[in-house]
Amino acid sequence: MALSLFPGIDLLGQGFEAEGFCVVRGPDLIFGGNVRAFHPVPSRFDGVIGGSPCPDFSRARRSVPTGDGLAMLAEFRRVVIEARAAWWLLENVPGCPELRIEGYSYQRLDLDARDVGMKQRRLRHFQFGHRGGLLLALPRPNVRSREAEATCLASESNKPGRRDWSRFCELQGLPASFDLPGFTLSAKYRAVGNGVPFPMARFLAQAVAAPVAATTRLCACGCARPVAGKAVSAGAACRKRIERKGKA
Ligand SMILES: [Zn+2]
Repeated sequence: MALSLFPGIDLLGQGFEAEGFCVVRGPDLIFGGNVRAFHPVPSRFDGVIGGSPCPDFSRARRSVPTGDGLAMLAEFRRVVIEARAAWWLLENVPGCPELRIEGYSYQRLDLDARDVGMKQRRLRHFQFGHRGGLLLALPRPNVRSREAEATCLASESNKPGRRDWSRFCELQGLPASFDLPGFTLSAKYRAVGNGVPFPMARFLAQAVAAPVAATTRLCACGCARPVAGKAVSAGAACRKRIERKGKA
């Protein structure tokens, strides 16, 4: 059973449900809830998932950081510890600081929606920790689709030439007929634009359902692709990333 924090309309949690997890949802501002007042019962949840609010860490930010981003990361950490979860998975933008939680392994993975066969350019960072030291292996393909559509953003509804609602939903991996009755149109765009694309969520849920031992050979670039035999990296792009890291 997994606890989904900051769920919003919870596309991340829906991906986990599609992979057989039972997902229980914590409070969310958009439904009048407050994570600060939330205390999970210890040892009931195997894992905690969630994408904490990220405007403070986003490159698209135009205003001064409010400090809310860091405060919500601290809430995520507090809930993981209070829940005594076996593992946790945090989704955020690439500018998100590292969240290390004592007693858990640590892995940071970048994943683009195109890595899971989608058309949308959407780079996100996932951070994962496991009390038993296990890791995620992500057997994603080595090639990304070259054609790419712009990222679906929460602010899309205010943009000139915005993509229509059904197209926007499809780009986030939802059916074109997807709807959120009772939401205004801009609230709909915000809720779906803030979400993890459904196929991306499923891909991660598959990895979380079968974490691998810390001794498993994974690509040295940090992409979490499994490598065979004596290989160090999973391909040419990974070798380049390793070189760049070495120079940094
Ligand atoms: Zn790699």
